Amino acid sequence: MTQAIIRERITVKGVVQGVGFRPHIYKLAAAYSLSGWVKNDAAGVTIEAEGAPERVAGFIRDISLKKPAAARVDSVAHSAVRPAGDASFLISKSGGRAQAAAIIPADLALCPDCRRELYDPGDRRYLYPFTNCTNCGPRFTIVKRVPYDRPFTTMAPFRMCPACRAEYGNPLDRRFHAQPNACPVCGPALSFEGNGRPVKGSPLALAAARLAAGRIGAIQSLGGFHLACAAQDLKAVARLRAIKDRPHKPFALMFADLAAAGRYCVVTPEEAAALESAAAPVVMVKKRPGTALEAAAPGLASAGVMLPYTPLHAALFAELSRAGFSGPLIMTSGNFRDEPIARSLAEVRARLGGLAGFIVHHDRAIHNRADDSVGFVSGGVFRFARRARGYVPAAVKLAADLPGGVLACGADLKNSFCLTRGKEAFLSQHIGDLSEAANQEFYLETVANLKKLLSAAPRTIAFDLHPDYVSSAAGRRLKGRKVPVQHHAAHVLSVAAEHGLDGPFIGLAFDGTGYGTDGRIWGSEFLVFEKKTWRRAARLKYFPLPGGDAGAHELWRPALALIKAAGLRPDGLFGAVPAARLAVIERMLEAGVNCPGTSSMGRLFDAFSFIAGVRCEATYEAQGPMELESLYKGGTGSYGFYAGTGGGEIIIDPAPAVRAAVKDRLSGRSAGFISARFHNGAAAMAVDIARRLARETGIKTFCLSGGVFQNRVLLELVTTGLERSGFSVFSNIQVPANDGGVALGQAWYAIKGYRQA
Ligand code: ZN
Ligand code: ZN
Ligand code: FE
Repeated sequence: MTQAIIRERITVKGVVQGVGFRPHIYKLAAAYSLSGWVKNDAAGVTIEAEGAPERVAGFIRDISLKKPAAARVDSVAHSAVRPAGDASFLISKSGGRAQAAAIIPADLALCPDCRRELYDPGDRRYLYPFTNCTNCGPRFTIVKRVPYDRPFTTMAPFRMCPACRAEYGNPLDRRFHAQPNACPVCGPALSFEGNGRPVKGSPLALAAARLAAGRIGAIQSLGGFHLACAAQDLKAVARLRAIKDRPHKPFALMFADLAAAGRYCVVTPEEAAALESAAAPVVMVKKRPGTALEAAAPGLASAGVMLPYTPLHAALFAELSRAGFSGPLIMTSGNFRDEPIARSLAEVRARLGGLAGFIVHHDRAIHNRADDSVGFVSGGVFRFARRARGYVPAAVKLAADLPGGVLACGADLKNSFCLTRGKEAFLSQHIGDLSEAANQEFYLETVANLKKLLSAAPRTIAFDLHPDYVSSAAGRRLKGRKVPVQHHAAHVLSVAAEHGLDGPFIGLAFDGTGYGTDGRIWGSEFLVFEKKTWRRAARLKYFPLPGGDAGAHELWRPALALIKAAGLRPDGLFGAVPAARLAVIERMLEAGVNCPGTSSMGRLFDAFSFIAGVRCEATYEAQGPMELESLYKGGTGSYGFYAGTGGGEIIIDPAPAVRAAVKDRLSGRSAGFISARFHNGAAAMAVDIARRLARETGIKTFCLSGGVFQNRVLLELVTTGLERSGFSVFSNIQVPANDGGVALGQAWYAIKGYRQA
């Protein structure tokens, strides 16, 4: 009896191009003895497979079950077609038109196979800093335009040697169609520059010797240059802080491997998974007490940690180990303060000049800058503080689209913008603070690059309401339908967009600064979204911010305003503030001059970090609140808030909390004690107001967003509090809760056609 032969046409959608998917299908087809073909097209990957029914079924099952590490399979659909009797299974060349709609993959960290070869003295790529394969290597950072083919990347100048070409052309090889494929014979090479002059020798061995001796160097990475030094060398770290003009801001650390990180930090399984993922972000993990990481992240319980994610980094750590050095390196963006990360030798020389003792650079140009991504694990999932390398340009899937697409310009701090194409939202890499002129150039350049990569010509332009934002001004100048969006409505909608929420919900936006529809500085807003409208239902009582944003780094200013508003005299707390300064600001408050009203939760946290005795002046954003959070040790006590009403809104008065905290401080209570009571109190207030609003509106779905929700303690307290009250709670996972995620909410506002009630 001859067995029936069937043929299925299979469509696979997701991230399936440039990640070794066709070789995976080819090998599967061989394993199941099937004939047919596979090709890339606009949909993703299309396959026709022919053979015995149970073999075809096993093949289809294994498509997603055994997918390559870097691939993401969103769907596998199949339907029967007439058998064609092919003799073999072929990989068809993809059509040019079809490729235009395909997605460029994000950069991928060194894979285990390439790592094994890298450390194998017998391998032809032994310690070669540019080894890669279809499962790993540069992608987004080297792409100039689509389709993602070598001639359109910065690998174009390198001609593959016969050995590399053979790998590239062999469907069974891990390097089949790996566009950046290279080896020491034909590929990019490193150079070493010391004191402005090229130095002969192994660049990584030279760098390792200098790092071990306490020198600071600039090292070219995937999306830009790092400034590196030995993390435990206090003199080196102090010099690096002087170079970057960052007295306290935490620096990211790179450890040789997970085991090394575990000796200095407590790494949970979820954090380990994030560290070892193909995106290889910087993950905030708890420092172990008594280790010498204090200089890298002073005053904080956590430190930002990453693992060597390029072969260059892995080879550097091998050289460091040879030099007898086993500690972590500080690896911070090669820039001055908030400027864009340097991506070329010329930029490093111009911006960091003689500050870096040496420069390790290479000839594979960086086309798209991308900083390291940063995040933390909360509720068992990795969440972003900064979304860039390893994630961009992966899209956020949307539940709806707007014909023509949307450009959402983002906000001015921690800028990231967003382009939509169909039901996909593409967020740019982290651009940074747009008040820096160099970042404005980076912004415009990246808008142009991303439009080109996506062949996008957006017909709708969404931007922040703020009258003075650079991003808003850029948006207003563009052609298209203009949609101004309130900052905190956008924060909340970034959550709704991510989670595809339909139906009414209430948003809690706890944030630093956002322009309100009444011209005030908003920052702790409870917004009700129903049908196509939003309205504010509750907020913190406005308090004056003497000097506005200009004084935001002086944490004693909002503290003084809140203490006076609570009816207290500023006695016994302001000893660290020069008396004359204090008197000037007091007079400003009394006269109400240059004292814009704010409901900012960020400034409330600033004030309490001052009242707790943690910090008087901050040298980086959120320093006081981060240090206050670091002191949180739990406990059940909490400070109270008073909720009244006014103008149809619930107005939350922090005066009782301020009075209690001042009393605790003056009676000698510890900062940790005050931190616990404040965090507990703020969370209890949020849950209490949420319950009231739920009773009024019948809405039981809550979205948490805004920069203050990067405070893990607060996020977890509010989330569990709301869940215990029987509510569904959503928060940001695919984009940052801070201003780096605002663009997604702006786009969703335009797509759904929201307006203020
Ligand atoms: Zn690899
Ligand atoms: Zn080669
Ligand atoms: Fe914000």
